[in-house]
Amino acid sequence: HENTLKGIAKQPAITKDGHAVILQANIEFASDIDDAVAHGAEGIGLYRTEFLYLASTKEPTEEDHYAAYAEAIRRLGGKPLVIRTLDLGADKYTQDRAANPERNPFLGDRSIRMCLHDIPMFKRQLRAIMRASVLGDVRVMFPMICTLMELRQARMILNDVMEELEDEGVEFRRDIPIGMMVEVPSVAIMPDVFAKEVNFFSIGTNDLIQYTLAVDRTNEKVAGLFCPAHPAVLKLIRDVIRAGSRNGISVSVCGEMAGDPLYTLLLLGLGLNNFSMNGPDVPEVKKVIRSTTIEHARQVARRVMSFDSERQVMHFLREETRKII
Ligand code: PEP
Ligand code: MG
Repeated sequence: HENTLKGIAKQPAITKDGHAVILQANIEFASDIDDAVAHGAEGIGLYRTEFLYLASTKEPTEEDHYAAYAEAIRRLGGKPLVIRTLDLGADKYTQDRAANPERNPFLGDRSIRMCLHDIPMFKRQLRAIMRASVLGDVRVMFPMICTLMELRQARMILNDVMEELEDEGVEFRRDIPIGMMVEVPSVAIMPDVFAKEVNFFSIGTNDLIQYTLAVDRTNEKVAGLFCPAHPAVLKLIRDVIRAGSRNGISVSVCGEMAGDPLYTLLLLGLGLNNFSMNGPDVPEVKKVIRSTTIEHARQVARRVMSFDSERQVMHFLREETRKII
């Protein structure tokens, strides 16, 4: 039973030598939670709230946001929920946007930039998150931060929201953990500066790879160049994990790479202990974790970081993973 993927969903995510890892799920709707938990997810590391917008032609109200978050919290029964603020634009666009396309949407007015350009919209969501913060273990996370000013502005707007709620006598959790995605090279190159101003990092490898390698993640013609194993990408990931531990904040990876068992040994060996992925990927990743020791994973990571090409990296990881499972 232990070896079937369903059986493994109930086992702890712990290495053979007792090193515990947190495996969480990425969701788009609160209704995705039951399935994620059934696959063994210990919480939600990435709630992509922009799907609230994409599912409807009307702009969601504060109550729409609140109802979605309250439902997610109820389904989680005490497990943590990381709510990412709106990541609209580029690949996730509203009908309004479709009618007014940008020339380079991934380099354009997307995500946190869009929120900082439309503060009433941003505040509607932040109010709902803060109101929901008293219902369970809620954390808030800003996407696509590129500069310290953006992070500070976002935090300032969140502070304004808290003050407004306080004036209205509405309950909220003032010390809600505040995190940011690390998904742009400008942050991954100097992570310490950002680590001093947030409670946690979550590395978005989908965008980090796209921006580091100059590969549009949605363009099939260049899909062959989109590779998590590129040594430059790995160096950034390593540096962000190190900066997190130096500054005493937690770091997770929530891009697709976190759910690919090929990279589990490497990420574990680089010091990652929080992975967030699509629910159905949890058992495979857990299987790798339960089949190795932290020392072996560290050796694998050291070796991988000495390679010059993604081909060497992938070949080596394939071999090492095959040997243990
Ligand atoms: C990422 O960029 O890796 C990520 C997790 O966010 P999204 O895929 O929603 O852009
Ligand atoms: Mg992203």
